[in-house]
Amino acid sequence: ATPTSIMVGTGKAAESGILFKGGEHLERTHQLEAIVLDKTGTITKGKPEVTNFTGDDETLQLLASAEKGSEHPLAEAIVAYATEKNIDFMEVDDFSAIPGHGIEVRISNRHILVGNRKLMQDHQVDVSGVEQEMIDYEVDGKTAMLIAIDGEYRGIVAVADTIKETASQAIQELKAQGLEVIMLTGDNERTAQAIAKQAGIDQVIAQVLPEEKADKIKEIQNKGKKVAMVGDGVNDAPALAIADIGIAIGTGTEVAIEAADVTILGGELLLIPKAIKISHATIKNIR
Ligand code: ADP
Ligand code: MG
Repeated sequence: ATPTSIMVGTGKAAESGILFKGGEHLERTHQLEAIVLDKTGTITKGKPEVTNFTGDDETLQLLASAEKGSEHPLAEAIVAYATEKNIDFMEVDDFSAIPGHGIEVRISNRHILVGNRKLMQDHQVDVSGVEQEMIDYEVDGKTAMLIAIDGEYRGIVAVADTIKETASQAIQELKAQGLEVIMLTGDNERTAQAIAKQAGIDQVIAQVLPEEKADKIKEIQNKGKKVAMVGDGVNDAPALAIADIGIAIGTGTEVAIEAADVTILGGELLLIPKAIKISHATIKNIR
């Protein structure tokens, strides 16, 4: 590889909003065989909105007050929804996030749980009566969260996050370039499958805990494949670092951008097949 052609390649990429940290990453992009994309904020816009809430007013007040302490996009959606409904937020006495499962919060002697089935199971909250309702939201591509107050089920809050306008075109182009495309998410299997279908992705790895994302990349590498990871969140940073090429979404967190080899400005997914095209053209010029 001549340094000049690499420089031309990375320069051309930069003009389009594809920022390689070094020339060696452009060369390695040429060898990619598989690409793993995070769901929330990468394939989707990362701006979820509450579509359904089944609890009463007291539940909404406690739910929204509890979520105020969380930085999760799901929490932001719930807080925005409650703000619109003019809910008075209560002071939180104790907040803990349970990564991949939800939150556990104490507000004036009340114990509040918001999260997935596993969180309810771990606290012996019976939610079997609303299983079909959960499924109905999930097959629609919504993330449905269960709410319990003082050990009792109190309602469901469902949010929807739409896929980016250019997501399916970008996926189609990546497939045409011969890449295996996989979606990775902490969300449940059904919601993940619904979103993947909209984006044209047929391989899904769901219900992955934040600390397991990097392991999933390693598993693909252990099969002898050169793999790229695309992500935006703090949770994605270890996976971005371990991947043969880590691609950060420019609208994502600083931690993700630091861990990655490439950043695509504005989170435009079409820049990924473009980066691959540029790497192929550069390597062809060299040979
Ligand atoms: P993602 O990869 O989609 O960002 P996470 O691993 O952050 O997923 O979360 C997985 C699941 O844990 C969510 O789908 C949700 O059910 C639950 N969860 C996470 N954070 C919260 C929160 N602040 N409030 C309620 N539920 C949450
Ligand atoms: Mg994300």
